[in-house]
Amino acid sequence: MHHQQRLNDEIESVKATILGLLSQSTHPTHQNLLCILTHTSNEEWLDLAAQQLGTEYNPLIERMNKLEAAISQMDIGQYGYCCDCEEKISEQRLERDPAAQRCDKCAK
Ligand SMILES: [Zn+2]
Repeated sequence: MHHQQRLNDEIESVKATILGLLSQSTHPTHQNLLCILTHTSNEEWLDLAAQQLGTEYNPLIERMNKLEAAISQMDIGQYGYCCDCEEKISEQRLERDPAAQRCDKCAK
C-alpha cells in the first residue's frame, strides 16, 4: 500500500511546513500556537490549526484535510472511489495525487 505511505509522508511534510512558518513568525499568538501544536495529537491538530491560523494558511490546511480524509477512507476500506459517482478512481490518477477524491470524469 504505497499510497498510504505517500499520504502519511505528505501529512508530515505539510505539518512541518506549517510549524516552520509559525516558528519564523514573531507574532506572540503564533509562538504560543507553535508550542501547543507541537504537543497535540493528529486529529485535534488539524481542528486547532484551522481555528487558530490566518487565511494565509488555508491552502495548507485544505491540503491536510484532504490527506486526512484519504487516510480515513483507507481505514474504512473506501479509499480510491470517486465521491460523486462511486466509480473506482484510476491508478494513474492516484499516482499523481494519492488524495484524489474524484474520478477523471467527475473531476472535469
Ligand atoms: Zn466520478
